[in-house]
Amino acid sequence: MSKMNVDIGDEKLTTCGRGADAGPEVTVYVARETELGGGLTIRRALPTAKRRMIGAWCFLDHFGPMDLEDNKGMDVAPHPHIGLQTVTWLTEGEVLHRDSIGSEQIIRPGQLNVMTSGRGISHSEESPTERTDPNLHGLQFWVALPEGERERDPDFEHHADLPTLTHDSLEMTVMVGESMGERSPATMYSEMMGVDVAARDVGERTLDLRTGWEHGVLVIEGALEVDGTRIEPGKLAYLGTKRDRVRLANDAPARFILLGGAPFEEEIMMWWNFVARTPDEIERARRDWQERAAYFGDVSRYRGSRLDAPSWRQRPVKRSARDDD
Ligand code: MN
Repeated sequence: MSKMNVDIGDEKLTTCGRGADAGPEVTVYVARETELGGGLTIRRALPTAKRRMIGAWCFLDHFGPMDLEDNKGMDVAPHPHIGLQTVTWLTEGEVLHRDSIGSEQIIRPGQLNVMTSGRGISHSEESPTERTDPNLHGLQFWVALPEGERERDPDFEHHADLPTLTHDSLEMTVMVGESMGERSPATMYSEMMGVDVAARDVGERTLDLRTGWEHGVLVIEGALEVDGTRIEPGKLAYLGTKRDRVRLANDAPARFILLGGAPFEEEIMMWWNFVARTPDEIERARRDWQERAAYFGDVSRYRGSRLDAPSWRQRPVKRSARDDD
């Protein structure tokens, strides 16, 4: 697996891809905690030092739970993306999405937002001023677009009605891809899946996995034993590509996300809000955003100014066999 870290200004350039490995054993990765502003704590389970992707999933943020009585909530000013899709899913609260192609959408628990940046989009995400729920708890994941799709037109989808199923008392919602014969309507560009699983009853079950795909389990409430390894929020269990099933046990109600996908064969670079292939592409996207290039558009109804890109000061590239975030 080829990896490289470059410290560039305030942001680290992360190279990832071509990284599926690890056999049937469970590998646990600890999320990094960071703050998004407004008191909103994020646990970032991907990318981390030793695990960059699971299939095309390249970025896993878990935010909250938080009480908005004491906090401002989410307020992410307009910012650009290239080369990716954002997948937003809430378990509590509401988020207002606005983007440069004219979308304006409140998302609520059980619904899915999928924004495809293609060659360029900008958006804002904020807690609505009039709220029906004082809490906020959810996920934002990113999906790398494969080479043939990353220059496509930007797009936004809101799915209020996703397929659900019950398996061995697990209540499952298919966010992305297919699971047990149920298929999500969300448009994706790689072979992949993502399922929200609520385990209200205690017990032990087995879920089938697709051999040859990577899989991961991210716990968002409670705790779960994944083939005997206990994980809780802030930990990602990585399952490699050689499995056809996983054993899950919980001794109290739990909720988790099962992710999977065909190993992503292209090497990608992530910096700030960009997924690209070369430092030149990232530098160009950064400059275009700062110079208000038309293709990033405008989030006109957001009250406030847009985000500036961090500074770009490329330092010597450090290559290592081992990661050292
Ligand atoms: Mn964004």
